[in-house]
Amino acid sequence: MRVFEKNSNIFKLLSEAVSEGIIVINEEQLIVAANTRASAMFGYENEALVGEPLEVLIPQTYSKAHQTHVSGFYRKHEQRRMAEGRTLFGLRKNKDQFPLEVGLNPFVLYGNTYVLALVIDVTERKKIEESQKMKTAALEAALNGITITDALQEDNPIIYANTAFEKITGYAKEEILGRNCRFLQAGDHDQEAVKKMYGAIKEGKGCHVQLRNYKKDGTLFWNEVSINPIADESERITHYVGIQNDITERKMAEQEIGHLARIFDESLNEIYVFDAHTLQFINANYGAQKNTGYVMAECKKMTPLDLKPEFSEDKFRKLISPLLDGSMEKMDFETVHRRKDGTTYPVEVHLQISSLGDKQVIVAIILDISDRKDYTQKLEKTVERRTEQLKKALETEKELNDLKTKFLSLVSHEFKTPLSGILTSTILVGKYTEKDQQEKREKHLKTITGMVHHLTQILDDFLSMEQLEKGKEVYHHSEFSLSKLVNEVIYNANMLLKNGQRINYPQNIDDVSICQDEKIMALVLTNLLTNAVKYSQEDTEIDLKVDLMADKIIIHVKDQGIGIPEKDQKHIFDRYFRAENVLTTQGTGIGLNMIKAHVENLGGSIFFISKQNKGSTFTVELPLGKAP
Ligand code: ADP
Repeated sequence: MRVFEKNSNIFKLLSEAVSEGIIVINEEQLIVAANTRASAMFGYENEALVGEPLEVLIPQTYSKAHQTHVSGFYRKHEQRRMAEGRTLFGLRKNKDQFPLEVGLNPFVLYGNTYVLALVIDVTERKKIEESQKMKTAALEAALNGITITDALQEDNPIIYANTAFEKITGYAKEEILGRNCRFLQAGDHDQEAVKKMYGAIKEGKGCHVQLRNYKKDGTLFWNEVSINPIADESERITHYVGIQNDITERKMAEQEIGHLARIFDESLNEIYVFDAHTLQFINANYGAQKNTGYVMAECKKMTPLDLKPEFSEDKFRKLISPLLDGSMEKMDFETVHRRKDGTTYPVEVHLQISSLGDKQVIVAIILDISDRKDYTQKLEKTVERRTEQLKKALETEKELNDLKTKFLSLVSHEFKTPLSGILTSTILVGKYTEKDQQEKREKHLKTITGMVHHLTQILDDFLSMEQLEKGKEVYHHSEFSLSKLVNEVIYNANMLLKNGQRINYPQNIDDVSICQDEKIMALVLTNLLTNAVKYSQEDTEIDLKVDLMADKIIIHVKDQGIGIPEKDQKHIFDRYFRAENVLTTQGTGIGLNMIKAHVENLGGSIFFISKQNKGSTFTVELPLGKAP
């Protein structure tokens, strides 16, 4: 101690010149010298530390360990830093502790061993270290990917990347550091956002972009990147800090929402959103505007009532009340919508309650059901038509039954006379056994033949009519000789002739062939000639005339008979109708009705002129065709 007292001026001079605190202790661990810096550091007045034990500068907790340590140190006698790797603490006079760094330098002076301790207060440095540690931990803990690139190095390589960045990209730190960030684009450089980002970096500015980036395994992810330049005092950009955020999910959701919004907008069905309380439209899609003719600005001033002529406000509010009180989630009904131009169309309305922010709204989807309505109406019409057809078929069937019943009664009546005639004639024929009675026999045989023809005709008429009624008659056109047909018909009619009656054969039909339905023509001619014979007296003539043209044939059957009373003429083609002047003559009233139907079915016509007691002329016109 004395040594230092003696040389205190020299020590002072030297020790005050250094910036560290200097404390010298002797082997008894007593402080023998301390410079001003050291005294101030520990909160003592100048020289106040001299003579104090070293312990006063060491916190209690470390004191014991320290003493052992120091003794050992004295023995080893070497120069070194104290507590390397650990933080040492000093104790100020006011008992505050502070971190310090101590370098120990033992030396021997005049046979005494001393230790010169160089003491540095590291409070500030520790604070900075702590703060940096905290910042690094914060960066590491951040959920955003964070990178720092060195702008002063070539190609701006990454010098720091946090754990989140590794997680987002799938790359490990050693694969990231030293590379330019563009490796995340994996060749997909043709992006507007990439251009924008490079432009900003070139100008030394920050930017915020959304990029398509690729993870180590090749999967795409949307990276929301914020780049911020860091400059030094001379405004030179030294680093870029990049903050990355994987927004793939958000992006997908946005795309989905965008897609849904597009569906809403572009749907050709009408979709409206209106306020559940004020009823005012909030939105109307393209389909709604197109169908109604209103534009959005007009729609926004309207309510559903402006489209629904069938609803009063009261009625509509009542209808939607279950949606508002929660008793129903959705409802649908049919009504009519009115367009801007006043026209209306049937619609099916679907309403559903929803919310927009804190507002209760109703979403309305409207289907134009005009087509469906048309279809239903068409269906109803078809059903009506079919019902009508069925009704007719039923009536026809009934008529046919009536006809059969009537025919049976008719047959029993109409057949009786000819049959008894035939019977009488056969009995009489049997009685004329003499040779010279041939004439009488022939007369009766002629009667029998006539009666049989008459009966055959009745049956033919009836069968033909039944065919007609059933709609089963099929017509067969063929080329045939007109004269041959006329000959046959007249031959049969001649059997029925009364005394002195004659049928005049047409003169102009030799070698004429025509194309028509031969069977029907024979039926028509037979009927007309039979009537002419039947309704004419003895000694009268019947003319059969034919007018032949290129496309048609006209047949006239003219008699000099009893004629048709004028008042009956309009009914003459009605089925079963018989004029009042023929009631004593046999007949059924079927023939004319039936041949008229046939003639008309073949595209022809039939008419007559008649005068009572003077005679009648029936005329038939038939088109001529070509044989198939
Ligand atoms: P039908 O001769 O079996 O009574 P038609 O249908 O052939 O039945 O004729 C209907 C009615 O038309 C006859 O009952 C008759 O009153 C009248 N009629 C037809 N042809 C003649 C004719 N040539 N002269 C006078 N009346 C006729």
